[in-house]
Amino acid sequence: MKDLFVLPDYVKTALAVCEANGHEAYLVGGCVRDLLRGVIPADYDIAVSCPPEATEAAFRGFRVIETGMKHGTVTVVIDGHNLELTTFRVDGTYRDGRHPDEVTFAGRLEDDLSRRDFTINAMAYRPGCGVTDLFGGRDDLKKRIVRCVGDPDVRFTEDALRILRALRFSSALDFDIDPGTAEAVLRQKDRLAAVSAERKFVELKKLFAGNRAESLLVTFRPVFELTVAPLKKLTEEQYLSAAKAAGKLRDPATALAALLCRLPEEDTEEACRALKTDNAFLRRACLLRAHAHGTFETKGQARVFLGANGKEALAALNDLRAALTGRPDPVTRAVLDETTVYPTSLRELAVNGRDLEEIGVKGPALGRVLNALLSSAAEGEVENEREALLTAALKLQN
Ligand code: ATP
Ligand code: MG
Repeated sequence: MKDLFVLPDYVKTALAVCEANGHEAYLVGGCVRDLLRGVIPADYDIAVSCPPEATEAAFRGFRVIETGMKHGTVTVVIDGHNLELTTFRVDGTYRDGRHPDEVTFAGRLEDDLSRRDFTINAMAYRPGCGVTDLFGGRDDLKKRIVRCVGDPDVRFTEDALRILRALRFSSALDFDIDPGTAEAVLRQKDRLAAVSAERKFVELKKLFAGNRAESLLVTFRPVFELTVAPLKKLTEEQYLSAAKAAGKLRDPATALAALLCRLPEEDTEEACRALKTDNAFLRRACLLRAHAHGTFETKGQARVFLGANGKEALAALNDLRAALTGRPDPVTRAVLDETTVYPTSLRELAVNGRDLEEIGVKGPALGRVLNALLSSAAEGEVENEREALLTAALKLQN
């Protein structure tokens, strides 16, 4: 059977080492979903049939980190890349609404896939064997639907973090939530109390960074009130307009400032403390909230803000004010433009040949694509920034 996907060499090596030692190894979870969507996975998770000690033994000669032996997870380092290999697992009963009481190693891939949260995240891929899809994940990917594996009420009762994960995948992937799953989100929302602030914050950030924040904020208001308590104080009208502004902003701290900008400034700090955000996030959200309603009358005022808080903060404030008022501010824009530094040589470009090779740009195309990226960045058509350049590189290659 012809291989379905092009995989990076270090991933192929890891799979081959497992197989050579007599163990089954599959790519699982988010990377299979992303490969099927035609998106480069952020990372590759591997599930293996053997216990963690056997994984370690198979990778002697490589650097191995004992990440979580109790949970079956070993990290191996290949060509400078970290890869997590986890033994097929079944989760035991859940008494605390968040963590399984015990984790058992399963002999079978099927068991490992059925403990996963959503159908689109519960597929496996093994080169030569194709995709294992027991719950209709491919179909849901095609239909662009987030749906729990199994009974959603049971799955949210086992682990309430999945409630927020359902919303975050809907936003990040721009997918609908299956009606049965969406109803269970609202029915089981109070179980979020069992979830740590840090884990809620991780999901919330990804949700704000995605495409659907506005409609999710509106449909699932009671869920958001359980994660950002001051939202309860907004009237319906205030809430809808705050959600609309937040939905236009992809940066999570800026989106939170937009959501809370009709409330006293202290509420932004309180919300950040309750979510146990990192300090940089807290400072950014509070700074933006404090300046949300002002305007810079002169370039000098914007330059002073820039000097005190940096370019990213000024750009975020500009986005926030535009989202709240619906009008871009030419004064701030002009000051931001003064700060743009264009690359003048390949050395100043934010990606190099190795970065491009990793996303599959190889051989004679490499030099051509690098030079085309330099021209675009020098013209200001694409930002001299890693993610933007890699996306442009993929387009140039095709
Ligand atoms: P991303 O690309 O954002 O990292 P992902 O699908 O890789 O998305 P992770 O949070 O990294 O998401 O989790 C990896 C995989 O582990 C998921 O695809 C899913 O199969 C499984 N998983 C993670 N968290 C849970 C959970 N709380 N309950 C059940 N399965 C989970
Ligand atoms: Mg992941």
